[in-house]
Amino acid sequence: MQASKNAIDVFDAAIMLCKKCGRKMQKGIELKQGFKLRYWYCKHCGIKVYHPGDLAEYKQFKQLSKKVYKVKLRIVGNSYAVTLPKEIVRFLQEQERVVELAKIYFEKAKKLALCFE
Ligand SMILES: [Zn+2]
Repeated sequence: MQASKNAIDVFDAAIMLCKKCGRKMQKGIELKQGFKLRYWYCKHCGIKVYHPGDLAEYKQFKQLSKKVYKVKLRIVGNSYAVTLPKEIVRFLQEQERVVELAKIYFEKAKKLALCFE
């Protein structure tokens, strides 16, 4: 799903012309749930063209976020270990987020958060 690192990215271009009116489009970044979605925008037509890679990543996140996984706690020495489902680990790796190091903290009484930032 992810484009090659050496591929030419049209979003790196300095100028993008609107397919509908031919005018110069403006670059922008929209933040959605921690994801940066780069886009080109035509003020004249109101057309917004998102970066296909950013959009695909965000859609994949939306799919994953609908799921609830049941995981087991395993005893490791004096601690407990939780295994992360493969598809979550793969998604984090595709985003080049560090999976070896994470922060955990209580969000509320029965909710423990796991952060990869
Ligand atoms: Zn236009």
